[in-house]
Amino acid sequence: MITKKLDTTKENIEIAAQIIRSGGLVAFPTETVYGLGADALNETATGKIYAAKGRPSDNPMIVHISDIKELELLAEEVSSTAKTLMEAFWPGPITFVLKKKENVPSITTGGLNTVAVRMPSDEIARELIKKSKTPIAAPSANLSGKPSPTTAMDVLEDMDGRIDAVIMGEPCLVGIESTVLDLTSDIPVILRPGYITKEDIDKVIEVKTEFDGSLFMKPSNEEFKPKSPGMKYKHYAPKAEFKIITGNIKGISKAIEELKEKAENEGNKVEVLYYGEDSEKAAKTFFADLRRLDRDGVDLIIAASLKPEGLGFSVMNRMMKSAGYDIIYVEEEKDDSIS
Ligand code: AMP
Ligand code: MG
Repeated sequence: MITKKLDTTKENIEIAAQIIRSGGLVAFPTETVYGLGADALNETATGKIYAAKGRPSDNPMIVHISDIKELELLAEEVSSTAKTLMEAFWPGPITFVLKKKENVPSITTGGLNTVAVRMPSDEIARELIKKSKTPIAAPSANLSGKPSPTTAMDVLEDMDGRIDAVIMGEPCLVGIESTVLDLTSDIPVILRPGYITKEDIDKVIEVKTEFDGSLFMKPSNEEFKPKSPGMKYKHYAPKAEFKIITGNIKGISKAIEELKEKAENEGNKVEVLYYGEDSEKAAKTFFADLRRLDRDGVDLIIAASLKPEGLGFSVMNRMMKSAGYDIIYVEEEKDDSIS
């Protein structure tokens, strides 16, 4: 299959919408990461997404809409809490899990009786959905297991020849996937942390949200049963070996230097990722950095952890998965002058 590379002209968005309408696959930019889209209500079309990505079929997709009216096609009931959250954060990088309507094919939702819905703020994404005249199911446009794509080139690296078209938009502004919030019970539960944080959500609703407990466990833990099926799979892995150093700030730099020197002496090409406390920048560039270092043929990536708070927590969720939980803890440095 030849993959069309479509610049972001009006005519090209119309061509992309025609592909969606006729059951094809189009990768498109959003503010979070690039999505791989198909008509969410056409099960043959969404089925193709699993094949193109090599994605397990029980991993549901997020359904993207451009107008709140489309919710009627997808969700059984929309609570007042849900409405408040949608008013506060849509269009934007947060997805709500709601009870699904019957006409949403079960293949789109990985067999679940719930549906995850998001209205992206990216203008091109919304224009594509509007012109397609149907909600668009779209997971991230990468091969399953690889870092999510935040540029059109990243998409082509994984998907050239496997899908009908890519809309060649700008690099994504946020850089990590949307927050996923389950609204199917009384207490809203964050299934996947993202750019919109627990603190942001708690400011606009009466009831306090909770985190899904599995976000604090390694997949090797017997009690690791995430409510978001996608969270159980191997994710975001670069080709290079990847280790995270965490713990005492002073100790981290020293530990990184020692590890780097040792690995280099063994003949490895080593690169360090250090974002300091800039979690915005970390979110925006982390996946792109992993792909860049793989292209450079790096053998070992060492990253300093971010403070796991707010957006830093969301970035660390991705970083730990990327590293396959290979984390080195650095203890407090002993101060010899006191003893
Ligand atoms: P991706 O589109 O690759 O970012 O993955 C979408 C994420 O949303 C996955 O982690 C899914 O497990 C999650 N998700 C999608 N639909 C649902 C749903 N109905 N219930 C819970 N999680 C969902
Ligand atoms: Mg993904």
